[in-house]
Amino acid sequence: MQIARGIYQLTGHMTALNSNTYALDSEEGLVMIDCGCRPVYLEHQSRILSMWGLGEKKPVAAFVTHAHFDHAGNAHLFEEKGARIYASEYDVHALKTGGKLVMEPEFGLTFHTCKAPVAVADGECVTIGGTTVTAVALPGHTKGAMAYLAETNGVRVLFTGDHCMIGNAGPDDEAEIEIGYCGSIDYDAEAYLRSFEKLRSMDVDIVAPGHRSVFYGDSRWLFEKMYRKALETIKI
Ligand SMILES: [Zn+2]
Repeated sequence: MQIARGIYQLTGHMTALNSNTYALDSEEGLVMIDCGCRPVYLEHQSRILSMWGLGEKKPVAAFVTHAHFDHAGNAHLFEEKGARIYASEYDVHALKTGGKLVMEPEFGLTFHTCKAPVAVADGECVTIGGTTVTAVALPGHTKGAMAYLAETNGVRVLFTGDHCMIGNAGPDDEAEIEIGYCGSIDYDAEAYLRSFEKLRSMDVDIVAPGHRSVFYGDSRWLFEKMYRKALETIKI
């Protein structure tokens, strides 16, 4: 589905076996946010892109929120198609090495490493074909976890990876908050809480997580609710 003009959700489900993936339609080519888990999801992505008339458009970049297999398993395939892979410095290392940092044992699949992923630092902006993506470090779920803020046609969308899942609940469509998985080898509870605190100062139009639902409501309300949930849930 198109979540804002020129921004598409290509895959997404509640399961852990694949992540939400998104594509930004830039003048130069497609800019991906996360890549998905296995090659079969590339077919799903292509089908959705074709539905929007973007089937022939080439991926030129992919921003990986973190190196867990469900988000980054297909990164090497995008690299082979000519896309430049961006991630935090820590996750550049993970994408080059695989193993426990990408949860290879848990997924029981072979992780194909990337050859030349490029590191982006907190606050760094990358502009591709008129679309600017800004890296927002949100460590905790993993040490190198990164959110990406994209602004297209005046709409600001924050892609938050596994920092926090958002679902809907109850007759009032109340947002149900689920803190990201806390069992990674490089999970960091203190950094996680600081990241929830950091988000409280942000205000965006749309929040697009790595699993479950995109949120179109008041982001300041959501970030405050996430922070309170994190205080209740995260044990230091
Ligand atoms: Zn994850």
